Amino acid sequence: MWRVKKSIVEDLIESSKKIYPKEFLCFLGGDKTSKEITEVVFLPTISGETSASINVLSMPFDDTIIGSFHSHPRGSAFPSKADKKFFHKYPINLILSLGEQINMRSFDENGIEIMLNITGN
Ligand SMILES: [Zn+2]
Repeated sequence: MWRVKKSIVEDLIESSKKIYPKEFLCFLGGDKTSKEITEVVFLPTISGETSASINVLSMPFDDTIIGSFHSHPRGSAFPSKADKKFFHKYPINLILSLGEQINMRSFDENGIEIMLNITGN
């Protein structure tokens, strides 16, 4: 099961709130083998109210990037068609909904919801 520290999740929530009502997009660094997310990788992104995109040229080409994160300022924490296409690149993808209540879900490269274990600091 994938694991992430609580402080990283708090960082992601904080960053998403800051950019609200725009969508926040960033990447996750860590270890694919031990299934652990260990850092948030901020990259220059273009944020919009309905989507966030990234200049592919600014994508790092090393394999320390193991996942993606983006917020849904409105609506549920489920992936859109475009999200699922994007998810193909990474084994772990998080969506945070800032709708009526804050809710985060994790998905694998096929857009299937998977469990994420949030551990203490
Ligand atoms: Zn989305």
